[in-house]
Amino acid sequence: MTVALQDNTHTTAKTNVALTPVVSVVKKIRFSAAHYYYLPQLSESENKARFGLCANTHGHGHNYDLCITVSGPMDPQTGMVVNLKDLKHILEETVMRQFHFKNINLDVPYFKDKLPTLEHLVVYFWQELNNALTPLSLQLSALRLYEDDTLFVDYWGEIMIEGQQ
Ligand SMILES: [Zn+2]
Repeated sequence: MTVALQDNTHTTAKTNVALTPVVSVVKKIRFSAAHYYYLPQLSESENKARFGLCANTHGHGHNYDLCITVSGPMDPQTGMVVNLKDLKHILEETVMRQFHFKNINLDVPYFKDKLPTLEHLVVYFWQELNNALTPLSLQLSALRLYEDDTLFVDYWGEIMIEGQQ
């Protein structure tokens, strides 16, 4: 009987791949804004029952802190993942100009028919920041949004769910 011996050795093709450090840079900004929670399809008493003091349509304010994480390889020349001058300009245009000292319900069109919850806000910031960072080949990898010292949300973008559209 002849037994064929299998050759389990593999050769690795030489490539020009090199390891490079990937660093996450976190920038924190603060903006002050007013909001309220009120669903027009509910009655005044239903809104008060559901949202309590937050249903007062005169609004109330928060000092929000937004932490933006941008990840990627370092530029070998500058040692930077992101030029903070570029990031500052983007944050000024996408967050500060639209939200600082504004009433979110009244001043930001996206929130005309959405409650300005932390969850809705962080998803909105992700869309806006991702749109601004992608053309610069920068990867937004996380957002953290604080409403105060005791409450915040984390967001890492969307996931695909099978069977849902
Ligand atoms: Zn509030």
